[in-house]
Amino acid sequence: MASAVRKHILVKGVVQGVGFRPHVYKLAAEYKLGGWVKNDASGVTIEAEGRAPAVEAFIKAIAARRPAASRVDSLVSRAVAATGERTFSITKSGGKAPAAAIIPADLALCADCRRELLDPADRRHLYPFTNCTNCGPRFTIVKSVPYDRPATTMAGFKMCPDCRREYSDPLDRRFHAQPNACPVCGPSVRLESSGKTLDGPAALERTAELLIAGGIGALQSLGGFHLACRADHAAALEQLRAAKSRPHKPFAVMVPSLAAARKLCAVSDAEAAALASAQAPVVMLRRRAKKFSEPAPGLSRLGVMLPYTPLHAALFALLAEKGFSGPLVMTSGNFRDEPICKDRPEVAARLKGVASFTLSHDRPIHNRADDSVAYEAAGELRLARRARGYVPAAVKLAAGGPAVLACGADLKNAFCLTRGPEAFLSQHIGDLSELKNQEFFGETLVKLRRLLKVSPSVVAHDLHPDYASAALARALPGRKVAVQHHAAHALSVAAEHGLEEPFIGLVWDGTGYGTDGNIWGSEILVVERKGWYRAGHLKYFPLPGGDAGALKAWRPALALLKAAFGRDWAPKAGRLFSGVPAAELRTVERMADAGINSPLTSSMGRLFDAFGFFAGVRSEATYEAQGPMELESLLPARAAGAYKFDLRRVKGMVEIDPAPAVRAAVRDRLAGRPPAVISARLHAGLARTAAEAAAAVALECNLKTVCLSGGVFQNRVLLEGVTAALEKAGFKVYSNRQVPANDGGIALGQAWYALKDFKPV
Ligand code: ZN
Ligand code: ZN
Ligand code: FE
Repeated sequence: MASAVRKHILVKGVVQGVGFRPHVYKLAAEYKLGGWVKNDASGVTIEAEGRAPAVEAFIKAIAARRPAASRVDSLVSRAVAATGERTFSITKSGGKAPAAAIIPADLALCADCRRELLDPADRRHLYPFTNCTNCGPRFTIVKSVPYDRPATTMAGFKMCPDCRREYSDPLDRRFHAQPNACPVCGPSVRLESSGKTLDGPAALERTAELLIAGGIGALQSLGGFHLACRADHAAALEQLRAAKSRPHKPFAVMVPSLAAARKLCAVSDAEAAALASAQAPVVMLRRRAKKFSEPAPGLSRLGVMLPYTPLHAALFALLAEKGFSGPLVMTSGNFRDEPICKDRPEVAARLKGVASFTLSHDRPIHNRADDSVAYEAAGELRLARRARGYVPAAVKLAAGGPAVLACGADLKNAFCLTRGPEAFLSQHIGDLSELKNQEFFGETLVKLRRLLKVSPSVVAHDLHPDYASAALARALPGRKVAVQHHAAHALSVAAEHGLEEPFIGLVWDGTGYGTDGNIWGSEILVVERKGWYRAGHLKYFPLPGGDAGALKAWRPALALLKAAFGRDWAPKAGRLFSGVPAAELRTVERMADAGINSPLTSSMGRLFDAFGFFAGVRSEATYEAQGPMELESLLPARAAGAYKFDLRRVKGMVEIDPAPAVRAAVRDRLAGRPPAVISARLHAGLARTAAEAAAAVALECNLKTVCLSGGVFQNRVLLEGVTAALEKAGFKVYSNRQVPANDGGIALGQAWYALKDFKPV
């Protein structure tokens, strides 16, 4: 061949397990090139030979026409000597190159596989483990890199001739689809119900019947078990709530289709795209009035997901055949707040007495991963919980450095490992006060380190002296970096946006340990190039009973009332406490007066709890942030006005005093104003106050960029209100998108803090 050129091409990104090599193979055929393509530990390597224009066009098309589930981060090519090779082949994976390969996240059932699954003539009709290079399990079944079948929990299944043919045909959709399987050779389901077992299609069939009859089942999914029952079956829901001790906490539901989701809820374009995405998270949707309030009592939003595995899709097809097309509750199959169960023995030990039947399968789950939870706010899709479908995708950082392990916070724990300029957050681990979650942390750390091939030399952790996450950090080798909770929240925003310091961090949160030993939670921080300082906060108030009283909204309410009205608060607001046992009220008041077991706090979460109480929404919660979420659910409301918060400068810091807002809310309540009005005025007042406080801080530091973070900013009305008010005041505003604004995103900020070698100023 005249003037043949040969190029060596290295592609990095999400390029393994997503149909990348067949894509390259097909392109090579299209451009009539010789050469080869292979997976290796750093990505996909290609050599391509042919006429120069064809090779150039081929290289352009590699990224431009990449498979839907892939992501190309870099493509580097260099000329090598031509060899005269005329055919193109896919060669065996090699693993000696430095580790930089990325394990793909799990992918929801694709449209092609769904079509086959629902086609009675297809050999995979209703087969619950149908997958291809565009969809199927990835992270949850992978044990090591490079990502090939022997490195997954599919290693024990030998492909039948038909599957082998698909797997070996470069032009087949299942070419090198590592979990490829069919009813002849692949995994199968098993139902255990009242001492009897059923296998295969009969098991799925019977599961549908048991669910329709109102049973609660443990169903094995991608990253763990769900507890499932009909969402419209009051007795089943009541039983599930009793068994899980969750009287009100919302449950997510799975609906058969986007059309079914639209019947229950209003769905925006972004929400519809998220529901149907390969990540397939639970999406918080605005419920249509009066429809399906039981799964999420008192809330305007319902967590909804679509069938993301072929097992779910087959189950819904069978349910429909039997006349049921409503939503199923699908909640994490765990005991208390422990890790999601991942195998039958765990289900037997932990979910006994909750599930009356168990549908499991024999494709083991290697990495547990809960469902992710997403929501749209201020025009962007955001994550409240980052797990299945997103992990282990990396957050790109603006710079690299030594490998860092950041241990996160104790609630909604997720940790973070960095490798060069990439931050890998673990899946949601959960509340570390549960011993089982500490084990889950350890188990996941070992597995992720192995997959990423990193040995962190720096270990970042929360400043809190009593945090389990900090204790776990101290037990590990490496240099320790203690990071203040809210500095980490603020930096999580900067890290994910590649934002250069300096900026103002406005962090509204539940609780975090402050550098003065108090419980912080409404912080204005100035983050400079090398460090940070506190520039403002909500005026401290005592929290009688501390964390033990976290669910009793009337306690912070009492403290705020006493601060607003003085010692004789009772004649002015005592009526609000008619539902609180008098003896307990007296004890708590004495505790607050004497400062016994009453830590000082600037928590915005507790302020919201208190306003939920003032509004008459709730005096005691059964789950975290229940009152605030119910307050938000009353919006939008027809109400004018905004509560006033005083701003003053105390010891060089901007202090936000809620006393006038507290007095106005109590006045509104006693005047019989509806809770929605109080809620609207609170939200409007806080939006205005945020902008005023930031402006006051900016007077001194002269900064015009604000990063918003902290769990309170999951409140979309507040996020949108504060963002708009700040923008109106001339600020550029950033908030969390890729990682949660709650403590689930804090590890990213800790890692960035350690990488940038920050210090408190
Ligand atoms: Zn597929
Ligand atoms: Zn097969
Ligand atoms: Fe926090």
